[in-house]
Amino acid sequence: AGRYDLVVLANRLPVDRTTDEAGRPGWRQSPGGLVTALHPIMKQRAGAWIGWHGLPGPAPSPFVHDDIHLHPIALTADDVEGYYEGQSNATIWPLYHDGVEQPVFDRAWQDRYRAVNLRFAQAAARVAAPGALVWVHDYHLQLVPGMLRELRPDLRIGFFLHIPFPPVELFCQMPMREEIMRGLLGADLVGFQHAQGTRNFRTLAAELLGAEITDTGIRYQGRDVAADTFPISIDVAEQQRLGTDPAVRSRAAQIRRELGDPRTVILAVDRLDYTKGIECRLRAYEELLSRQGLDPADTVLVQVAVPTRQQIDQYQALRERVEREVSRINGEHAGIGRMPVHYLHQSFDRAELAALYLAADVMAVTPLRDGMNLVAKEYVATRADGTGALVLSEFAGAAAELRQAWLVNPHDLDALEQALAGAAFADADEQRRRMAPMREHLRRHDVNAWAAGFLNRLGRIAVGSRTPA
Ligand code: UDP
Repeated sequence: AGRYDLVVLANRLPVDRTTDEAGRPGWRQSPGGLVTALHPIMKQRAGAWIGWHGLPGPAPSPFVHDDIHLHPIALTADDVEGYYEGQSNATIWPLYHDGVEQPVFDRAWQDRYRAVNLRFAQAAARVAAPGALVWVHDYHLQLVPGMLRELRPDLRIGFFLHIPFPPVELFCQMPMREEIMRGLLGADLVGFQHAQGTRNFRTLAAELLGAEITDTGIRYQGRDVAADTFPISIDVAEQQRLGTDPAVRSRAAQIRRELGDPRTVILAVDRLDYTKGIECRLRAYEELLSRQGLDPADTVLVQVAVPTRQQIDQYQALRERVEREVSRINGEHAGIGRMPVHYLHQSFDRAELAALYLAADVMAVTPLRDGMNLVAKEYVATRADGTGALVLSEFAGAAAELRQAWLVNPHDLDALEQALAGAAFADADEQRRRMAPMREHLRRHDVNAWAAGFLNRLGRIAVGSRTPA
């Protein structure tokens, strides 16, 4: 056994490789939300984080960055292709997002997925202290809880899935279905973003593995496994600080001027992913412009499309379709010096993103399926004056909490157009009436509350209280 009382496992370490002017390599904290969420607790409890450092090849030795002990996992180029790009992002990702793209099933990828999951489990088994809390994250590592329990039955193991967990009919397409369910059921506590995922998991455990469903969870092979919903959140205080920062506010005003001071600025911020509903949204926007539901001379859509997973075929194809559609809309509806769509295939830092949130009258978050969608929460939290209008897909996890948004089925083109137009023409009173309860909800449910909620629940599960087999 090792010496850490708290161990986090995630596909990626919370740092990215950098090089300074002199060419010396270093590390910098990566921008992800999970890092922000776990940083205070990891520091306080001197925890260890196990993950990939982002480059194929041998792993650096364990090192400390910003008081967190980092344990890199080596992935070969074949691991990256099979475990990461393949099984994780071309099989599990599309399948768990309602199969909005056809999942690809490949036996070599499955083997890589098993091998890499075992590597993670073995690393955790080495570094965790007796009785330690181990928190495994996300769809890349679903076999780890079961593997780790075999190696270290003394540990308390939690698993949290950041993406949706699909219904039985979809999940059962997966050749590894039983193996994955057994892997997840190796945990003491399995957490989901949305009650639907929790329900799907319980149903699957019963139907696929014959587990017994109890009030609190699942009884499987003589052990109790708790399954519950823990919707992730954002650093609300930091987002509010950005929203009132004078530099951010003046940048927001500058953005509006640079867009030509249109009446309506609609903003969309997504990774360029087929789950995000970018094409449906462009179609709805185009129809609104054509029918003068929105004035092409006085409306701008800013579409931030963050580059992502560019090695994978489906993502390259999506990019081509989106870029063709953006050009078509601009070709049709632009005038000299004005463009109805500003398309940015780039990523921005938090301050620039906050300025965009402040500059936007309407935030359009219309994924076909999304585990949570933090952008929706960030928009609401940033708008300190309580104005703004959020159009939100019913199929984003965030819709379970942000009930006062313009909730919409993104597949329903008429409904989507109505929601966008309704949000664009809402007066300040209506905006505030809708935003106030959402802002209040976020104040009470920030990311610190999320992390503490999960870990406290895991910590309360007593080791040794297992039902005898
Ligand atoms: N984000 C960013 N820069 C950008 C666009 C997005 O830092 O240019 C951040 C954004 O603030 C949010 C995250 O990326 O915290 C996206 O999370 P979300 O849950 O919306 O979607 P995901 O990309 O995880 O599917």
